Amino acid sequence: MAFICAKYSAKVVISGLARHSCSVRTRKLRIHPTVRCISAITSVRHKAVNGGTVSADDKRGHSSLFEPRTCSNLQRAHYSSKKDMLKWNPHTFADFLKEKDIQRCYMVWDRENKKVRMSHEELEPIGTFFENDKIDFDEHEGMFLQIGRRTGCLLGAFIWRTNRGQACGGVRLWDYPTLELYMRDGLRLGQGMGVKSALAGLWVGGGTGLVAEPTAKKHILPDFRASLFYDYGDFLTSLNGCYVTAEDVGVNVNDLDHVHHRTRYATCIPEEKGGSGNPSVATGKGVVCAMEAALDFLGIGTLSTKSVVIQGAGNVATVIVEELLKKDVPSIHVTDCHQNRVDDMKHLFHHKHDGRLHIEKVDIDDMTVMSRPCDILSPCALGNVLNKETIPTIKAEIVCGAANNQLGSPEDNELLKERGITYVVDYLANRMGIVNCANEAYGRLTNDPAIERHFSREWEKSIYVMTKKILEKAREDDITPVQAANAIADKLSREWHPVWPGRSQQIIDALVESEWHKQPIY
Ligand code: NAD
Repeated sequence: MAFICAKYSAKVVISGLARHSCSVRTRKLRIHPTVRCISAITSVRHKAVNGGTVSADDKRGHSSLFEPRTCSNLQRAHYSSKKDMLKWNPHTFADFLKEKDIQRCYMVWDRENKKVRMSHEELEPIGTFFENDKIDFDEHEGMFLQIGRRTGCLLGAFIWRTNRGQACGGVRLWDYPTLELYMRDGLRLGQGMGVKSALAGLWVGGGTGLVAEPTAKKHILPDFRASLFYDYGDFLTSLNGCYVTAEDVGVNVNDLDHVHHRTRYATCIPEEKGGSGNPSVATGKGVVCAMEAALDFLGIGTLSTKSVVIQGAGNVATVIVEELLKKDVPSIHVTDCHQNRVDDMKHLFHHKHDGRLHIEKVDIDDMTVMSRPCDILSPCALGNVLNKETIPTIKAEIVCGAANNQLGSPEDNELLKERGITYVVDYLANRMGIVNCANEAYGRLTNDPAIERHFSREWEKSIYVMTKKILEKAREDDITPVQAANAIADKLSREWHPVWPGRSQQIIDALVESEWHKQPIY
């Protein structure tokens, strides 16, 4: 097994928009510095407008705001030493590309010669970084970068492994302090998506998109924002479908609508345009299936005799509560740091809970919920909540929730095992976000069997069956559930698409052959 050995991400995903993100660390743990700034920036991000209503998609020349910075108006002097390229801010890197008259560039994995192949020798420090990296680079098939024609923003697509099909995963809009963090996030998220989708039995590969947040927070201006996502759509069109995008942190359904305006390679588009709509219902149901599987694995009875504590009273938690009440769970305790969320949930279940549901408003940094006595603890708010401080206090026998990247480090994973806590891997329990939109292009059905089978107990890749399989493997091999899940996912991710084996690799090869990086940008 060349990669995903119990290596873990501490990446925190806060926004409810971050439905599909997960990140599985490959070789070493590193708490990503972006984790620390995410909370602070999220509040700003939530204020970001829900996309604009521009009528024309081409803003070139209409306003200085939309003019990509060119050599003549660049503020130089930030990039004196090329060997420090990875330490540059992504904007500095974009300026460098513009100065060199590079609008597009790529780094692809040369399968024959086992090395990174680059479009431009100027990018040599990046190629060297990938080749020497022992943390996140895992022979990713391709990394493509483009300077947005309308906005001058740095756009990226990171493609991990496409044996199972087109690389799929969300596009993230984020303010990265350095190019290295930008690259690492792309590599890690692309791989994480591949692992999640492989375990879900989806015929897609792993990929992710990254847009470096523009300077001066221009992305909160509706017209600029629309242009940014039109730029992203054009970029995807040029990649001929080796990467298909979706929603991730900092990006909303309206943005995806703008992407879709310029490309067919986008999912999570608005429901009124044939998109799959809000995935939270499916995600909540999936988490409950995973809880049932964990109970059956332990042989300790059904939900109807168990108490459940949930952190977060958001979209997914609301569905989980609904399901748990239906399944006669005698005690549910929910906490949320926002009074409106607490009030909404109280209002929603006012007549339904017969005293079985308690909802509590807590401070944002109050983690006492983690140590509350219960049978099942369900983190449904934030990532990085299972860590050295919280794990020793957990009283639940099972941890199973929707939040992405719940574990802080691989050591935390071991700590859960040492404490005898049964942990259902987050990207297994919360898969329905990506499942919901993965097959959008194949049309929609009521009670869609392609969705419903994930909730069944018969289908070999269902959440229930996979959860039990992974927990059983962990017990048999005396490894953590994360290690077990990664081992199974690695094998699955190498299976070939039954109809289009190697198609995306062919597309990547063709892009290189046709000198994609020299083609004019429309
Ligand atoms: P949401 O934003 O609707 O709900 C999250 C809730 O957590 C909010 O009500 C927020 O106030 C609360 N919260 C934040 N910090 C908290 C804290 N410290 N203590 C208590 N409550 C806190 O998001 P959601 O769509 O319900 O998703 C929940 C989690 O599941 C997120 O981590 C998300 O990335 C992940 N996820 C969601 C989906 C999906 O389909 N929505 C799919 C996969 C993963």
